[in-house]
Amino acid sequence: MKVKLIETIEEMRAFSKNAKSKNLSIGYVPTMGALHDGHVSLMKKAVEQNDIAVMTIFVNPIQFGPNEDYNKYPRTLEADLEKAEAAGISAVFFPSATELTANLYSYIDINELQNNLCGTKRPGHFRGVCTIVGKFFNIIQPDNAYFGKKDIQQLYIIKQMVKDLNFDVKIIPCDIVREDDGLAMSSRNRYLSESERKDALVLSQSLKKAVTLHQQGEKSSQVLINSIRQEIEKISSAKIDYVSIVNEQMQDVCTVENKNIIALAVYIGNTRLIDNHIIGETLCF
Ligand code: AMP
Repeated sequence: MKVKLIETIEEMRAFSKNAKSKNLSIGYVPTMGALHDGHVSLMKKAVEQNDIAVMTIFVNPIQFGPNEDYNKYPRTLEADLEKAEAAGISAVFFPSATELTANLYSYIDINELQNNLCGTKRPGHFRGVCTIVGKFFNIIQPDNAYFGKKDIQQLYIIKQMVKDLNFDVKIIPCDIVREDDGLAMSSRNRYLSESERKDALVLSQSLKKAVTLHQQGEKSSQVLINSIRQEIEKISSAKIDYVSIVNEQMQDVCTVENKNIIALAVYIGNTRLIDNHIIGETLCF
């Protein structure tokens, strides 16, 4: 079926109301577009598990810092619509930044969980994410919403927001999709030059090395972090933003246990990439 492009809040609300009146369940996938197979895996899950699947494509201005890549973020609507249609998405909501964020006085701010990792490195980022995701939940009224483990802090924050504010939606976590060589798929990978693309492998490879060390019995967080830092420091185009091991409350841990998360953010040239691994889950790269 042809995907429907929806550009106003009013039309999106009408679409969801119509689906609800027919008792159809709605699966929802929030994205910023420039879609890749990571997004496609979320879309397919939403299509499989619901009667109707809706996706948003919105490069959210209020989640970008003043010196970040809001203006140059890739915008590829035509190609995105084709991917959405191929995955079986029923409607793509593509609102204007003006309609969604102009004259906004209310924000959703989350304590504690944002005081580490990307939350401290990107001040205001999760406030921007939560506010817009909250608005989308209210507009679309999904039964299930699909979030990638690639953005692991975002996933935990959204889960907490849903619990705290009683949004009537189930959050479904989705595994990280990687390129064949291990690089986590990201819309930002297209910024990388050929040599930077090779250098970017250091994220997944250093992560893999640390996971192997842990599997061999190393439980010290600092030892694992040092091993990752040493690998990254060998690459001249790489600059570490953070390497951390945290629990589900996003607090640093000293001793690594099941469900702890090894998380890293690294600049390769000017491109900031993130990756992570949850201890105890299968490492499939
Ligand atoms: P973005 O468009 O980057 O904001 O991402 C939209 C959603 O897709 C988020 O829930 C991301 O975590 C998820 N996502 C992005 N990249 C991947 C990936 N490589 N594997 C799985 N999910 C991903």
